[in-house]
Amino acid sequence: MLIGVPKEIKNHEYRVGLTPASVRELSAHGHKIMIETGAGAGIGMDDAAYQRAGAEIMADAAGLFAAAEMIVKVKEPQPAECRMLRPGQILFTYLHLAPDPEQAKLLMDSGCIAIAYETVTDERGRLPLLAPMSEVAGRMAVQVGAVSLQKANGGFGVLLAGVPGVPPGRVAVLGGGVVGTNAARIALGMGADVTILDKSIGRLAQLDDLYGPHLKTAFATTEAIEEAVFHADLIIGAVLVPGASAPKLVTRAMLGQMRRGAVLVDVAIDQGGCFETSRPTTHDDPTYIVEGVVHYCVANMPGAVPRTSTFALAQATLPYALKLADHGWKAALRADPHLLAGLNVAEGRIMHPAVAAALGETL
Ligand code: NAD
Repeated sequence: MLIGVPKEIKNHEYRVGLTPASVRELSAHGHKIMIETGAGAGIGMDDAAYQRAGAEIMADAAGLFAAAEMIVKVKEPQPAECRMLRPGQILFTYLHLAPDPEQAKLLMDSGCIAIAYETVTDERGRLPLLAPMSEVAGRMAVQVGAVSLQKANGGFGVLLAGVPGVPPGRVAVLGGGVVGTNAARIALGMGADVTILDKSIGRLAQLDDLYGPHLKTAFATTEAIEEAVFHADLIIGAVLVPGASAPKLVTRAMLGQMRRGAVLVDVAIDQGGCFETSRPTTHDDPTYIVEGVVHYCVANMPGAVPRTSTFALAQATLPYALKLADHGWKAALRADPHLLAGLNVAEGRIMHPAVAAALGETL
């Protein structure tokens, strides 16, 4: 199959759909890969690295879109990209169509076969192509939280690790899923005093097995959340109720009882945020202060570390890209119900029930 990887054109997006290692694997299966010149620059991979892996370098996106049978990307296609898609062409990327009727219409009009990373499932009902970005965001949450705790950044002036004779900082993690587990792991590694709260007893038991007595776990009642939040230096918001806005677990009224200079990192901001006072921020200006409490609410945290994020994403997408390329989309989706769950648009129609419901389309 002829596979095209364009340079991402969304503002401040430095990731790329395939790494040279993925290109080499696909080439070994007999596929031909075209990469737009400079597409890997943001992750430190030049055209020569892709050529060595077997790719052909294309001068512009138009030629690449015109020739490719499958386009592999990272971000949802921008309107100019949607207009270059054609009937029957496979698009494999993040789409996040539910809140985006304009993109949905453009994709339907194009007649392409759009398979979204974020709705591909695995045998345990998880989302394996979303998980790598949650791992990145969870690990980063502690890193940005630690910097925000520095006095010059409005923080309380606490070093999470402490030093001999001075206790470590306290970290409360709300939600013990992929983001929360990764945040807890880094905070524990730094030597912080970490409590993780979740509504799922089963999840808390898994975390207890995983980290033993070093990690404190608590069932997420309002009382337990208040107890943890009022005494924490760093609070990480990592809850998710699939398909719904994040519950507001920390209210504006609660800020008054928190430490001045405490830090809230709301990773769940992409679902509306789990702190009442959260509003989306950007990497250019990531924090703001409400009632003395520092808020970090960047909606695309993995974008700050495009190299790690691209490698993490590409290794997760490669097995699916191989199936699509080896067998064509119809046979690949017929053989794998989890990949089929990724199908969002085909031949002018929305194919995913939840996306259709969100957009008010009938299947
Ligand atoms: P996940 O499904 O793996 O985990 C969510 C956890 O929240 C589950 O364990 C669930 O039991 C728990 N939960 C749900 N309601 C709760 C409540 N009321 N109290 C306590 N716990 C509750 O999800 P995830 O992959 O960890 O993602 C978490 C959030 O982070 C999502 O909104 C995701 O979109 C977001 N995210 C943001 C970024 C970013 O750049 N900002 C990057 C990746 C993921």
